[in-house]
Amino acid sequence: MTLTCLECKNHVDLSLYPNLVVDQIIECETCGITLMITNIDSAGEVLAEIVDEGK
Ligand SMILES: [Zn+2]
Repeated sequence: MTLTCLECKNHVDLSLYPNLVVDQIIECETCGITLMITNIDSAGEVLAEIVDEGK
């Protein structure tokens, strides 16, 4: 599975999350932003959105 960070555009290491599911909260190791998984497609491509922690 692959995920590109929405903030820093770096590859996020999903090997830290072997049981990744939709709605799971993960963190980009590079920039530290919090992301929520929104979709995992059959090709293994992972989509996420930025979690706004400022509220
Ligand atoms: Zn990042």
